[in-house]
Amino acid sequence: MSKIQAIRGMNDLLPQQSATWQYLESAVSSILDQYNYKEIRFPIMETTDLFKRSIGEVTDIVEKEMYTFADRNGDSVTLRPEGTASCVRACEQHGLLYNQTQKLWYHGPMFRYERPQKGRLRQFHQIGVETFGFDGPDIDAELLLLTARLWKQLKINHAVVLEINSLGTPASRGRYKAALIDYLNPLKGQLDEDSQRRLSTNPLRILDSKNTDTQALLADAPQLHDFIEDEAKAHFVALTDILKAADIPYRVNQRLVRGLDYYDYTVFEWVTDQLGAQGTVCAGGRYNGLVEQLGGRPTAAVGLAMGVERLVLLLETLNVLPDNVASTPDIYIVSVGDVMPYALSVAEKLRDDLLDANICSHFGGGSFKNQMKKADKSGANMALIIGEDEKQQQLLTVKYLRSGDPQKTITVEEFITLFKHRN
Ligand code: ATP
Ligand code: MG
Repeated sequence: MSKIQAIRGMNDLLPQQSATWQYLESAVSSILDQYNYKEIRFPIMETTDLFKRSIGEVTDIVEKEMYTFADRNGDSVTLRPEGTASCVRACEQHGLLYNQTQKLWYHGPMFRYERPQKGRLRQFHQIGVETFGFDGPDIDAELLLLTARLWKQLKINHAVVLEINSLGTPASRGRYKAALIDYLNPLKGQLDEDSQRRLSTNPLRILDSKNTDTQALLADAPQLHDFIEDEAKAHFVALTDILKAADIPYRVNQRLVRGLDYYDYTVFEWVTDQLGAQGTVCAGGRYNGLVEQLGGRPTAAVGLAMGVERLVLLLETLNVLPDNVASTPDIYIVSVGDVMPYALSVAEKLRDDLLDANICSHFGGGSFKNQMKKADKSGANMALIIGEDEKQQQLLTVKYLRSGDPQKTITVEEFITLFKHRN
């Protein structure tokens, strides 16, 4: 019979990779803790309407990337393609935006039916941050400061560049959209296929086109910057002032528009040239209109999402993972003969007293020589050997695997003291 495989674009995370993920996740969560952001969790599936109403009917995500199906009751449900909409939905549902501000984060799988390739999966993972109730540029800046701190801590800061732009309000964007359509309509025949389609659905996304001919046509196009209102401009200038004061380099990219409909004012991306075409490792922006659009009261909001797979790829590509990212045992317990109840009770006693020790017991028997080979391969610093003699005298034998120190046979208590005072 043929073996069942995972669905294309949906990866297993194997034991040798999970340590890297844990390293990244714990770096993120401790930084978010430093900034006093609180974790929120919501379901991976929502009603389809939530995403249609928030991300936008004519975006790539809603048009062709969602995992949407009817459940057994015939209701249309969708595996979340991103977290912002669910976060707003959850906050509204539980009154978290009523007369209060929120600084939140979440992490987990997202689902998009895209063509799987390097840095692009059908189930991928994001760590998202969302803030509600703050309308000043200072919170936009804080999001960038905390990500900059993260890149520095992860030692990838030299490989990522911050691109920022302002989209203004939906009203000014509407005026710009009209001007862009006027400019591009006569050139329609020269646009790439995707851009031709977008001209009538989502013209701003054309600015984002990777097609070089399309990019050349855009050289003389009207500039978004000339259309946005003074208030949005002032917000943007204040943000860049904070970035300058904080010594965070950035590049203003007038063509940065993002693929989701709900953004206004600030948008940004952290990009790297180390991963090929999928170089955006973190992206976000302001979305002051979304809460109201989903039925809540007008609420200022700004957030971001990091792509975990891309960050992991970048850590690996740049070779900046700490040596000890995968935890190896400190102690490997070798048990020879009929000693099992005693050997396990020693291991348990050690775990009672040595809270930070990683202790691996050998299971499945085998010769002394074989077990010592496994102990060595495990990377442990020492093997504790328990044989019939040790059991009888309630002792254990310590054998150092990485140094020439002589082995010794001692009591469990003596070993605990010895281990506590190692180094
Ligand atoms: P892209 O332009 O790369 O398609 P996007 O605009 O669709 O990105 P967002 O929805 O803003 O991306 O998601 C934020 C981040 O999540 C991206 O910058 C990227 O790091 C990651 N991401 C998005 N889609 C995928 C995917 N299919 N596979 C892996 N990571 C992804
Ligand atoms: Mg995309």
